[in-house]
Amino acid sequence: MTMSDTTLIRGAKVLGGAAQDVLITGETVTAVGEGLAAPEGAAVVEAAGHVLLPGLVDLHTHLREPGREDSETVLTGTRAAAAGGYTAVHAMANTFPVADTAGVVEQVWRLGRESGYCDVQPVGAVTVGLEGKQLAELGAMADSAAQVRVFSDDGKCVDDAVIMRRALEYVKAFDGVVAQHAQEPRLTEGAQMNEGTVSGELGLTGWPAVAEESIIARDVLLAAHVGSRVHICHLSTAGSVEIVRWAKSKGWDVTAEVTPHHLLLTDELVRSYDPVYKVNPPLRTEADVLALREALADGTIDCVATDHAPHPHEDKDCEWAAAAMGMVGLETALSVVQHTMVDTGLLDWSGVADRMSARPAAIGRLAGHGRPVAPGEPANLVLVDPAYRGTVNPAGFASRSRNTPYAGRELPGRVVATFLRGRATVMDGKLV
Ligand SMILES: [Zn+2]
Repeated sequence: MTMSDTTLIRGAKVLGGAAQDVLITGETVTAVGEGLAAPEGAAVVEAAGHVLLPGLVDLHTHLREPGREDSETVLTGTRAAAAGGYTAVHAMANTFPVADTAGVVEQVWRLGRESGYCDVQPVGAVTVGLEGKQLAELGAMADSAAQVRVFSDDGKCVDDAVIMRRALEYVKAFDGVVAQHAQEPRLTEGAQMNEGTVSGELGLTGWPAVAEESIIARDVLLAAHVGSRVHICHLSTAGSVEIVRWAKSKGWDVTAEVTPHHLLLTDELVRSYDPVYKVNPPLRTEADVLALREALADGTIDCVATDHAPHPHEDKDCEWAAAAMGMVGLETALSVVQHTMVDTGLLDWSGVADRMSARPAAIGRLAGHGRPVAPGEPANLVLVDPAYRGTVNPAGFASRSRNTPYAGRELPGRVVATFLRGRATVMDGKLV
């Protein structure tokens, strides 16, 4: 890494368009155009054939600190994020202790600032201890140094309709949003995988689509009723897409995300009994995958969120029923999106910039991220080589955990460089 505070990115396809030069001075993009001269002492990044996007923003990351530093820390998680092209992540609240007070969210926020690899925006819990009984101190978290705007009990569903209604009413005061992990608890007791043909053949307890869809239907109605914003985490079924599409057609303030793994993988993989495929919500069917891709392309689903869920190998390397749910995702998300959305012609690179940067930043009310690549904007950027083809090797991950479903799989694209406010966090494909 150069110590220069000036960088010229030469000949990059900005948002996949025509080749341009982009000049970064200090923390800011200062010029975009053809044939820009490199100022004396500037670092020059030759980027012919590469695509330049705004730095990616994740609405749904489990950084595990405080409490489960054996699986991830804020430092290792933000290094993984930078390696994956991210400049900001929202850290989910299901830590130990739970991020349900101003003190805990400020601690996570401060650890993020100290890491220097990626901005960390804490998500506040909706209820005390994620127990679903009593609203957490939402206002105190919003007013804290962390300025929390996204609230979620993710990992658990806010299943009590009165608590959900109160949370939706409360967050209006500070333009917050409730991000719901939609899982009707009674319908998913003991659930091990998607309920369908495969679960029937394997004799595993099913997680029916209706357990997700019934909560989403209730919550879009509640959000409309109180005039608030609701965000639906990790949509996984075709029926969920239909409900969100209907809610949006009504003009309600409803947004939704999809994970990379739900855009690619199906419940057929569970036949292997490899717990790397155990995740919540579960992998669904091919028809669901195709509906999710189409909905992301047409904007019904607003954004891609990783649900990066690191687990130590002893929690995943065991029999299916005992294994923890979740997959790491920060370092493979962009490649999976290129594979499923760009290389299939469903989304162009400016669409990727919208779904992986601009929209998640807007939903999280995150200033300075998801901005256009233009003079005067913060230099939060990612440079991608879309022609690269490589095999996923978890041994090379920056994350402390290795629970990826893509080990050994060939995926396209590679993050060449990531810039956080003008500073390279990744250069030549390596963390700096
Ligand atoms: Zn969740």
